[in-house]
Amino acid sequence: MFETAINRYLEKHGFEAARLKAVLFDMDGVLFDSMPNHASSWTRSMAQFGLHMTPEEAYLHEGRTGGSTINLLIQRQWGREATEEEWKRMYKVKSELFSQCPEAPQMPGAAELLKKVKDDGLTPVLVTGSGQLTLLDRLNHNFPGIFQRGLMVTSFDVKHGKPDPEPYLMGLQKAGIQPWEGIVVENAPLGVQAGTAARIFTIAVNTGPLPGHVLLDAGADLLFPSVKSLCDQWEEVRKAFSRESPDF
Ligand code: MG
Repeated sequence: MFETAINRYLEKHGFEAARLKAVLFDMDGVLFDSMPNHASSWTRSMAQFGLHMTPEEAYLHEGRTGGSTINLLIQRQWGREATEEEWKRMYKVKSELFSQCPEAPQMPGAAELLKKVKDDGLTPVLVTGSGQLTLLDRLNHNFPGIFQRGLMVTSFDVKHGKPDPEPYLMGLQKAGIQPWEGIVVENAPLGVQAGTAARIFTIAVNTGPLPGHVLLDAGADLLFPSVKSLCDQWEEVRKAFSRESPDF
Protein backbone atom coordinates (compact mmCIF):
# COMPACT_ATOMS: atom_id res chain seq x y z
CA MET A 1 0.00 0.00 0.00
CA PHE A 2 2.80 2.45 0.87
CA GLU A 3 4.69 1.44 -2.31
CA THR A 4 1.61 2.29 -4.39
CA ALA A 5 1.46 5.76 -2.87
CA ILE A 6 5.18 6.32 -3.47
CA ASN A 7 4.92 5.15 -7.10
CA ARG A 8 1.92 7.40 -7.67
CA TYR A 9 3.91 10.31 -6.26
CA LEU A 10 6.97 9.61 -8.43
CA GLU A 11 4.84 9.31 -11.54
CA LYS A 12 2.88 12.49 -10.79
CA HIS A 13 6.05 14.57 -10.58
CA GLY A 14 8.11 12.68 -13.15
CA PHE A 15 10.76 11.70 -10.59
CA GLU A 16 12.82 8.56 -11.08
CA ALA A 17 13.17 7.47 -7.47
CA ALA A 18 12.75 8.71 -3.94
CA ARG A 19 15.94 8.80 -1.88
CA LEU A 20 15.07 9.73 1.65
CA LYS A 21 17.45 12.07 3.44
CA ALA A 22 15.25 14.35 5.55
CA VAL A 23 11.83 14.61 7.15
CA LEU A 24 10.23 18.06 7.25
CA PHE A 25 7.94 18.44 10.25
CA ASP A 26 5.20 20.99 10.75
CA MET A 27 4.92 22.01 14.42
CA ASP A 28 1.37 22.98 15.50
CA GLY A 29 -0.88 19.94 15.41
CA VAL A 30 2.04 17.61 14.62
CA LEU A 31 4.69 17.97 17.35
CA PHE A 32 2.49 19.85 19.84
CA ASP A 33 -1.22 19.46 20.43
CA SER A 34 -1.52 23.23 20.23
CA MET A 35 -4.42 23.54 17.81
CA PRO A 36 -7.19 23.52 20.46
CA ASN A 37 -5.51 26.61 21.98
CA HIS A 38 -5.25 28.29 18.58
CA ALA A 39 -8.87 27.51 17.71
CA SER A 40 -10.23 28.86 20.99
CA SER A 41 -8.11 32.04 20.90
CA TRP A 42 -9.16 32.64 17.28
CA THR A 43 -12.90 32.31 17.95
CA ARG A 44 -12.77 34.36 21.18
CA SER A 45 -10.61 37.18 19.77
CA MET A 46 -12.63 37.58 16.58
CA ALA A 47 -15.87 37.62 18.60
CA GLN A 48 -14.54 40.69 20.45
CA PHE A 49 -14.54 42.52 17.10
CA GLY A 50 -17.94 41.17 16.02
CA LEU A 51 -16.50 38.61 13.59
CA HIS A 52 -17.85 35.07 13.66
CA MET A 53 -15.36 32.24 13.38
CA THR A 54 -15.99 28.58 14.24
CA PRO A 55 -13.26 26.38 15.75
CA GLU A 56 -13.42 24.19 12.60
CA GLU A 57 -12.63 27.26 10.52
CA ALA A 58 -9.51 27.82 12.60
CA TYR A 59 -8.38 24.31 11.65
CA LEU A 60 -9.26 24.87 7.98
CA HIS A 61 -7.19 28.07 7.85
CA GLU A 62 -4.31 26.72 9.93
CA GLY A 63 -0.99 27.76 8.39
CA ARG A 64 -2.34 30.92 6.79
CA THR A 65 -0.83 34.15 8.12
CA GLY A 66 -2.87 35.97 10.76
CA GLY A 67 -3.47 38.94 8.49
CA SER A 68 -4.70 36.83 5.61
CA THR A 69 -7.04 34.84 7.88
CA ILE A 70 -8.58 38.03 9.30
CA ASN A 71 -8.90 39.50 5.80
CA LEU A 72 -10.89 36.45 4.70
CA LEU A 73 -13.30 36.87 7.61
CA ILE A 74 -13.74 40.60 6.95
CA GLN A 75 -14.22 40.08 3.21
CA ARG A 76 -16.92 37.52 3.86
CA GLN A 77 -18.72 39.20 6.73
CA TRP A 78 -18.20 42.90 6.05
CA GLY A 79 -17.74 42.80 2.26
CA ARG A 80 -14.45 44.72 2.16
CA GLU A 81 -10.70 44.34 2.64
CA ALA A 82 -9.14 44.59 6.11
CA THR A 83 -6.87 47.57 6.67
CA GLU A 84 -3.38 46.83 7.92
CA GLU A 85 -3.98 48.77 11.13
CA GLU A 86 -7.17 46.78 11.67
CA TRP A 87 -5.82 43.28 11.16
CA LYS A 88 -2.70 44.02 13.19
CA ARG A 89 -4.86 45.19 16.11
CA MET A 90 -7.07 42.10 15.84
CA TYR A 91 -4.16 39.69 15.49
CA LYS A 92 -2.53 41.21 18.57
CA VAL A 93 -5.60 40.26 20.62
CA LYS A 94 -5.54 36.74 19.18
CA SER A 95 -1.86 36.36 20.11
CA GLU A 96 -2.51 37.70 23.61
CA LEU A 97 -5.34 35.23 24.22
CA PHE A 98 -3.18 32.43 22.82
CA SER A 99 -0.33 33.28 25.18
CA GLN A 100 -2.75 33.02 28.12
CA CYS A 101 -3.78 29.46 27.15
CA PRO A 102 -2.44 26.51 29.13
CA GLU A 103 0.80 25.08 27.74
CA ALA A 104 0.12 22.76 24.80
CA PRO A 105 1.20 19.19 25.49
CA GLN A 106 3.49 17.17 23.23
CA MET A 107 1.55 15.30 20.56
CA PRO A 108 1.38 11.62 21.58
CA GLY A 109 3.92 9.68 19.50
CA ALA A 110 5.85 12.77 18.35
CA ALA A 111 8.95 12.27 20.51
CA GLU A 112 9.16 8.59 19.55
CA LEU A 113 8.72 9.36 15.84
CA LEU A 114 11.46 12.02 15.93
CA LYS A 115 13.78 9.54 17.62
CA LYS A 116 13.08 6.89 14.97
CA VAL A 117 13.72 9.41 12.18
CA LYS A 118 17.01 10.48 13.76
CA ASP A 119 18.09 6.88 14.45
CA ASP A 120 17.43 6.09 10.78
CA GLY A 121 20.08 8.64 9.86
CA LEU A 122 17.51 11.06 8.44
CA THR A 123 17.65 14.79 9.13
CA PRO A 124 14.65 16.30 10.96
CA VAL A 125 13.75 19.78 9.63
CA LEU A 126 11.16 22.08 11.21
CA VAL A 127 8.86 24.03 8.88
CA THR A 128 6.29 26.08 10.76
CA GLY A 129 4.17 29.09 9.94
CA SER A 130 4.37 29.99 13.60
CA GLY A 131 6.33 32.89 14.96
CA GLN A 132 5.42 32.02 18.56
CA LEU A 133 8.75 32.30 20.30
CA THR A 134 7.49 30.37 23.31
CA LEU A 135 6.72 27.29 21.20
CA LEU A 136 10.04 27.49 19.37
CA ASP A 137 11.84 27.63 22.72
CA ARG A 138 9.82 24.72 23.96
CA LEU A 139 10.90 22.63 20.96
CA ASN A 140 14.41 22.33 22.31
CA HIS A 141 13.19 21.56 25.82
CA ASN A 142 10.69 18.93 24.65
CA PHE A 143 12.73 17.31 21.91
CA PRO A 144 16.35 17.92 22.97
CA GLY A 145 19.02 17.38 20.35
CA ILE A 146 16.58 16.82 17.48
CA PHE A 147 16.42 20.10 15.56
CA GLN A 148 19.50 22.08 14.61
CA ARG A 149 19.12 25.85 14.62
CA GLY A 150 19.96 26.14 10.94
CA LEU A 151 17.32 23.58 10.04
CA MET A 152 14.25 25.51 11.14
CA VAL A 153 11.93 27.55 8.95
CA THR A 154 9.56 29.89 10.83
CA SER A 155 7.30 32.79 9.93
CA PHE A 156 10.36 35.04 10.30
CA ASP A 157 12.04 33.35 7.30
CA VAL A 158 9.39 33.52 4.60
CA LYS A 159 7.34 36.10 2.74
CA HIS A 160 4.47 33.80 1.85
CA GLY A 161 2.81 31.49 4.34
CA LYS A 162 1.32 28.07 3.57
CA PRO A 163 -0.39 27.10 1.20
CA ASP A 164 2.42 28.78 -0.76
CA PRO A 165 5.27 26.27 -1.26
CA GLU A 166 7.85 28.83 -0.06
CA PRO A 167 8.21 27.50 3.53
CA TYR A 168 8.84 23.94 2.32
CA LEU A 169 11.09 25.07 -0.56
CA MET A 170 13.14 26.93 2.03
CA GLY A 171 13.20 23.79 4.18
CA LEU A 172 14.64 21.84 1.23
CA GLN A 173 17.19 24.57 0.65
CA LYS A 174 18.26 24.69 4.31
CA ALA A 175 18.63 20.90 4.35
CA GLY A 176 20.43 20.98 0.99
CA ILE A 177 18.16 18.37 -0.57
CA GLN A 178 15.88 17.85 -3.59
CA PRO A 179 12.09 17.32 -3.34
CA TRP A 180 12.38 13.54 -3.88
CA GLU A 181 14.80 13.31 -0.94
CA GLY A 182 12.31 14.45 1.68
CA ILE A 183 9.00 13.71 3.35
CA VAL A 184 6.63 16.32 4.77
CA VAL A 185 4.54 15.55 7.87
CA GLU A 186 1.53 17.89 8.09
CA ASN A 187 -1.82 18.04 9.88
CA ALA A 188 -3.48 20.96 8.07
CA PRO A 189 -5.07 21.12 4.60
CA LEU A 190 -3.10 24.28 3.69
CA GLY A 191 0.12 22.71 4.95
CA VAL A 192 -0.53 19.63 2.81
CA GLN A 193 -1.08 21.93 -0.19
CA ALA A 194 2.21 23.68 0.55
CA GLY A 195 4.09 20.37 0.82
CA THR A 196 2.72 18.97 -2.43
CA ALA A 197 3.22 22.32 -4.23
CA ALA A 198 6.89 22.01 -3.23
CA ARG A 199 6.69 18.54 -4.88
CA ILE A 200 7.62 16.72 -1.66
CA PHE A 201 6.00 13.40 -0.64
CA THR A 202 3.44 14.62 1.91
CA ILE A 203 2.10 12.55 4.80
CA ALA A 204 -1.01 13.92 6.51
CA VAL A 205 -1.72 13.12 10.17
CA ASN A 206 -5.31 13.95 11.01
CA THR A 207 -4.98 15.23 14.56
CA GLY A 208 -7.93 17.66 14.42
CA PRO A 209 -11.71 17.61 13.89
CA LEU A 210 -11.75 17.82 10.07
CA PRO A 211 -12.85 14.79 8.03
CA GLY A 212 -9.88 12.87 6.54
CA HIS A 213 -10.96 13.48 2.95
CA VAL A 214 -10.17 17.20 3.37
CA LEU A 215 -6.51 16.26 3.74
CA LEU A 216 -6.59 13.82 0.82
CA ASP A 217 -8.38 16.41 -1.33
CA ALA A 218 -5.59 18.85 -0.43
CA GLY A 219 -3.20 16.38 -2.08
CA ALA A 220 -1.81 14.23 0.74
CA ASP A 221 0.11 11.19 -0.56
CA LEU A 222 -0.65 9.21 2.62
CA LEU A 223 -3.09 9.76 5.48
CA PHE A 224 -2.73 8.54 9.08
CA PRO A 225 -5.34 9.11 11.81
CA SER A 226 -2.71 10.29 14.31
CA VAL A 227 0.99 10.93 14.82
CA LYS A 228 1.07 7.83 17.01
CA SER A 229 -0.20 5.63 14.18
CA LEU A 230 2.40 7.07 11.77
CA CYS A 231 5.02 6.37 14.42
CA ASP A 232 3.78 2.78 14.84
CA GLN A 233 3.98 2.19 11.07
CA TRP A 234 7.15 4.20 10.47
CA GLU A 235 9.30 1.11 9.83
CA GLU A 236 6.90 0.03 7.06
CA VAL A 237 6.91 3.47 5.46
CA ARG A 238 10.70 3.55 5.65
CA LYS A 239 10.97 0.09 4.08
CA ALA A 240 8.66 1.08 1.24
CA PHE A 241 10.93 4.03 0.44
CA SER A 242 14.01 1.78 0.41
CA ARG A 243 12.27 -0.67 -1.92
CA GLU A 244 11.43 2.13 -4.34
CA SER A 245 15.08 3.20 -4.33
CA PRO A 246 17.04 -0.05 -4.66
CA ASP A 247 20.41 1.70 -4.51
CA PHE A 248 19.56 3.48 -1.25
MG1 MG B 1 0.00 22.28 11.68
